[in-house]
Amino acid sequence: MHHFEVAIIGGGPAGSTAAGTLAKKGINTCLIEKEKFPRNVLCGEFLSEQVIKNIEDLGLKEAFFSCNPHKITNFNLYASGGAHINAKIKFEAYALKRSVLDNLLLKNAADNNCILYQPAKVVSIINYGNHYQVNFVRDGIEESVLANFIIASWGKQNILDKSFDRVCAEAKTDYFAVKYFVNKKYLKNFNDNEIRIYTAGNIYCGINSVSDDEVTLCYLQKTSDGLAKGKWAEHLYLNNKKFRELFTGDLKEILGNLKPYGTGNLYFGKKEIYFKRIFFVGDAGGLIAPFAGDGISMAMESGKLAGEFLSEICDKNYSINSEIHYYKKSWYRRFNKRLKYAAFIQKVLLGSFGNLFIMIGSKSKFMVRLIMNLTR
Ligand SMILES: Cc1cc2nc3c(=O)[nH]c(=O)nc-3n(C[C@H](O)[C@H](O)[C@H](O)COP(=O)(O)OP(=O)(O)OC[C@H]3O[C@@H](n4cnc5c(N)ncnc54)[C@H](O)[C@@H]3O)c2cc1C
Repeated sequence: MHHFEVAIIGGGPAGSTAAGTLAKKGINTCLIEKEKFPRNVLCGEFLSEQVIKNIEDLGLKEAFFSCNPHKITNFNLYASGGAHINAKIKFEAYALKRSVLDNLLLKNAADNNCILYQPAKVVSIINYGNHYQVNFVRDGIEESVLANFIIASWGKQNILDKSFDRVCAEAKTDYFAVKYFVNKKYLKNFNDNEIRIYTAGNIYCGINSVSDDEVTLCYLQKTSDGLAKGKWAEHLYLNNKKFRELFTGDLKEILGNLKPYGTGNLYFGKKEIYFKRIFFVGDAGGLIAPFAGDGISMAMESGKLAGEFLSEICDKNYSINSEIHYYKKSWYRRFNKRLKYAAFIQKVLLGSFGNLFIMIGSKSKFMVRLIMNLTR
């Protein structure tokens, strides 16, 4: 059985960045990913300035631009009451399909000699005190690897969370989200350089152009106000005139023919970030921030942080128990403020407080600037 220093579970932005960081430093690392790449995932596919910086840190800026990301320079928010906020985006931002971005990041990990098991689904993790056995299924056959440390980058909700009695595994939430790729022929007057947000009550819908012929249309719904799951399109269509005017035909018919990428039970609460030699990063570590457009960047940064910390531990043979508080301190310093901003934006964009805020915001340059700063 192969014995690695670090086994990474999940090859999204968090896992691939951790893998690229560790493998580049010569640490014996493997990454286990259940899906075949390229694959699409639920995401608004808005890439903030920080994502570009993270990509640059990995030495992938040129490779990223060769994927033809769409530059986003304009922000438009249309609330159901008719309020409209328009602002220039003064920082560097792009939109690109996650299938393309995630493929680029995972390839970088493999190019740096990280061993990839893919497609291979981790089914259990057994603790042997100073190391773990990770069991996964590949081509219908169960295989195992041993690892001294684990980086858990398996995303927002996962059956594996149950093995560690994590609160998020059992929590019932009323957040529900879906994304579609919509052909631009179904849209009127949509510009390639803009991100648009439409809101109505507890529904938020973000749209940006991710390829020459498609936009990503991603919505998030809070169902606690009694509106049934999946009724978002109808509700937004009826209550937001600008959203209605965006389409060339009947929205139900347009979406009816498309593949949805979705999830229910989106958990926004706090999650543990470390447990007995396991480092939870990205969404698995609670860095989920769909409204602030900051999730991918926090996933990448947390993967990098865990990767750099573990490189030091493995390289210098430090005791994990005496060093772990440094890691936790760095984590909270980097992410606490950003998570608070994300929670604030979530409040602004969903619910009655949001409508009021947008009404005021649309009349005030200061408010527009505030929103734009928060959405960075
Ligand atoms: C509705 C919505 C819209 C969003 N929009 C944006 C946006 O526009 N911009 C932005 O920056 N962020 C956005 N986010 C947040 C962003 O998508 C996440 O923060 C980011 O994907 C987290 O990356 P990750 O690597 O932690 O997890 P993921 O990207 O979820 O990757 C997890 C990986 O683990 C693999 N995996 C899972 N289980 C196993 C297993 N048992 N064995 C092996 N592999 C496994 C999965 O296949 C997957 O590839 C959005 C989130 C939501 C919910």
